[in-house]
Amino acid sequence: METVHTILETRKIIKAWKKDGLTVGLVPTMGFLHEGHESLVKKAAAENDKVVVSIFVNPIQFGPNEDLEAYPRDLDKDKLVCEKANADLIFNPSPEEMYFDNAVTSVAVKELTEGLCGSKRPVHFQGVCTVVSKLFNIVTPDRAYFGEKDAQQLAVIKRMVQDLNFDIDIVGCPIVREEDGLAKSSRNTYLSRDERKAAVILNESLNLAKEALKSGEQYASKLTGIISKKISSEPLAKIDYIEIVDSLELKPVCKISSSILVAIAIYIGNTRLIDNFTWDIK
Ligand code: AMP
Repeated sequence: METVHTILETRKIIKAWKKDGLTVGLVPTMGFLHEGHESLVKKAAAENDKVVVSIFVNPIQFGPNEDLEAYPRDLDKDKLVCEKANADLIFNPSPEEMYFDNAVTSVAVKELTEGLCGSKRPVHFQGVCTVVSKLFNIVTPDRAYFGEKDAQQLAVIKRMVQDLNFDIDIVGCPIVREEDGLAKSSRNTYLSRDERKAAVILNESLNLAKEALKSGEQYASKLTGIISKKISSEPLAKIDYIEIVDSLELKPVCKISSSILVAIAIYIGNTRLIDNFTWDIK
C-alpha cells in the first residue's frame, strides 16, 4: 500500500491501473479511522480490483465555530487500518493541494440540504459536495463508498451523482456501532467518561421509536415525542434536531406511508453527535 500527497501522483497511479483494465473503488474519509471506515474499505476491496482511501480534513465543510482545528488526526494509525482492510492507495492531500487560492467554483445540491444537518450547518453540504466532486474527478472511481451513519450526506451524494452525470456507483454501507450501541465516530473521542456513558441515549431513543413503528405507530409527531422524551431524561444531552423525513427527498413526513429516515442530532456536553435509522414500509 502506498500513501501519496499530490493529485499528480494519484492520477499517475490510477492511469496505470486503468490501462490494465482494473476497477477502482474510492472511500472518502477525514481520517482518524475506526471500524466504521474499515467496513467501507473492506467492502470496496471485495468489490473492486483497487481501493483508494482519501484522508482529508476538508476545511470548507466546517462552519466558522465548528471543530476544524480540534478534529482528531493520526495518519500513522490510519495507514495500519487501511493496510489491514486491503486498501491499495491512501490519497492524503494538504488543503493547499486541494484548493487553489483563486477557486470560484463550488457544487451545491438544493432542497435535500435544507433540513436535518443542512439547516444547522449552513456551509457543510456545499463543502462536502465540492470536495467529493473533486475527489471523483481526481480518482475517477467505478464505485464510491459512503456510510449510512451520515444518511443525509449519502442521499445528497446520490442525487449529485444523478444530477451531474458522474459515471460512478454510490454504495451505501450499514452503520457500525460500539457494543453498547453508540454509532462509531471520530468525534466520540471528544467525550469525557461520563459523556461517553450518556451518549448511548442516541441509539436507545431511536430503538424506542423503532419499537413504536413495529407496534404500528403511523404518526411522525408521536415518534418525535418518544425520542424527545427519552433524550430529555439524560441531563448531559441537548437536542439539536429530531426529524422524520422521506428517505429519498428528505422532506418532512406527517403520516408514515413510505420509506422514512428517522434522524437525530444531539449535543452531549459540547460534542454534537448524529444517528439515524431507515424504516421501510413493507
Ligand atoms: P468521516 O471520516 O467521518 O467523514 O467518514 C467517512 C465515511 O465513513 C463516511 O461515508 C461516513 O458515513 C462513514 N462512516 C463514519 N462512521 C461510520 C460508522 N460508524 N459506520 C459506517 N460508516 C461510517
